[in-house]
Amino acid sequence: MMWKYTCPHCGQKTFTPLQKALAGSYKSMGKPCPNCGRKCCNGMGSIYFDGILSILAFIAVMVIYVKSDSSQKMESTILMAIIIGGSFLLSFLFRMFFGKLVEPIRKMQ
Ligand SMILES: [Zn+2]
Repeated sequence: MMWKYTCPHCGQKTFTPLQKALAGSYKSMGKPCPNCGRKCCNGMGSIYFDGILSILAFIAVMVIYVKSDSSQKMESTILMAIIIGGSFLLSFLFRMFFGKLVEPIRKMQ
């Protein structure tokens, strides 16, 4: 099922989930709306989610690092790469399917 997200400026459903995911976070420049051309980005929800994810990924990587000995170096490196890659993927999926589009904060600075 495909649906679109509403632009916070013109109120039209102009962003696909993929375009929304690529619009970046609240602190980024955002992406222009195809209808009105004004910039949109992901709201605070994705920032909180990214924050939680990066803390969890950091803890997981530290646990692997501490628990692994030199004979498991290869396995633990692969596992850490999977965790880091997985957290990027989850962050992307969150932006695709959750949260709202907002105006980027940057234009106020
Ligand atoms: Zn618009």
